[in-house]
Amino acid sequence: MFDTLQDRLAATFKNLRGKGRITEADIDETAREIRRALLEADVNLAVVKEFVAAVKERARSTELHAALNPAQQIVKIVNDELVSILGGETRTVRFAKRPPTVIMLAGLQGAGKTTLAGKLALWLKGQGHSPLLVAADLQRPNAVNQLQIVGQRAGVHVFAPEPGNGVGNPIEVAKNSIAEAERRLYDVVIVDTAGRLGIDAELMQQAADIRDAVRPDEVLFVVDAMIGQDAVNTANAFAEGVGFDGVVLTKLDGDARGGAALSIARVTGKPIMFASSGEGQKDFDVFHPDRMASRILGMGDMLTLIEQAEKTFDAEQSAKAAAKLAGQGGEFGLADFLQQMQMVRKMGPLSKVFGMLPGMGQLKDQIANIDEKEIDRIEAIIHSMTPTERDNPKIIDGSRRARIAKGSGTQVSEVNNLVDRFFEARKAMTALASGKMPGIPGMPGM
Ligand code: GDP
Repeated sequence: MFDTLQDRLAATFKNLRGKGRITEADIDETAREIRRALLEADVNLAVVKEFVAAVKERARSTELHAALNPAQQIVKIVNDELVSILGGETRTVRFAKRPPTVIMLAGLQGAGKTTLAGKLALWLKGQGHSPLLVAADLQRPNAVNQLQIVGQRAGVHVFAPEPGNGVGNPIEVAKNSIAEAERRLYDVVIVDTAGRLGIDAELMQQAADIRDAVRPDEVLFVVDAMIGQDAVNTANAFAEGVGFDGVVLTKLDGDARGGAALSIARVTGKPIMFASSGEGQKDFDVFHPDRMASRILGMGDMLTLIEQAEKTFDAEQSAKAAAKLAGQGGEFGLADFLQQMQMVRKMGPLSKVFGMLPGMGQLKDQIANIDEKEIDRIEAIIHSMTPTERDNPKIIDGSRRARIAKGSGTQVSEVNNLVDRFFEARKAMTALASGKMPGIPGMPGM
């Protein structure tokens, strides 16, 4: 869904990478590129303007965070603003104090309401609720039938008009369904309503009548994310005609530009509560603005990692190590190396930590094969060295290597390997640290 946007933003951030300082001109250029990227993704113009202004303003007045370099800081600002336009906090169904909780689905025909009704029911079941599906879409031939199939697949009861019992009158059916739920102790009622191909007054009136009849706790506006800017217009029409409490985006698996998804929460002022991303019953998720933002930024779980790093890293130790790498306060030795490695390990199994870094997709196999035991051996080797050897690994000659190998229960070749790799790593890290902010050790570039 967000492929183009992802690529464009990634290119923008790449230009910032490696800059030790970000100038006013950099901020302007970045803002221009972000603006272009969002407009290309079909994001609503008003939303784009607001977004870009906010990013610019924050980038100018940003307080530098010690754990992040300038490029990371801009990414973080863009991320925060994305989360904000996507609605901020995650919000799901608010259950009524007195059951049943009534959820009404509204939206155009083909938006995916009926499909969603089944997914929502299944999700509610998983949460320990007992939902009842209600077929109040009596317009479309076959709609009742479709809901029955959906209900069957989800293992959920469907309330549908019996012949001679309110047939053709969706308002009656909806009303009766509440009584049925009370009688049979269903604690959530999901009312599927009729849609039309376009917005029309009769459709709105019917939806409003159903709303008045069942007094829903939540009205969910279901919208096909692939219809682009029309999604925003449709949302506005439904907001006016029926009113709604939350949005459900469907067809997020489509390959459209995704602008609708990015505009709708801000334009309507209502949270996106769920997302549907396929025809299967499991292709359904609670919508998390923060996760969606990091997906758009192609950051993997980068931000989680940054947060964990902020929590785990001992700022003083990190600053010392960084200073050494920058050529101040003594040489970066094996003891520092060990310390940094242990800090990274504290964040979790290494395969997981590396897996959270962006751009690691092609290294998946290697990451899965990271051998924690090998890291244990490295630790053992360093522990078998004398403090002098750790501070100044150059003195580790043949006989010392033999002693260290013996002491750590490893082979001389492993000791050789470690010492060689340490020198290489130090060279790379020193180059990286020169003239730059500390950044997160072990996270070259970004
Ligand atoms: P309704 O008219 O609003 O009830 O829409 P339906 O639930 O009948 O869905 C219309 C079509 O969209 C059906 O063919 C569904 O299988 C399909 N559909 C619904 N949700 C999704 C989705 O998230 N992804 C994709 N690819 N198709 C979907």
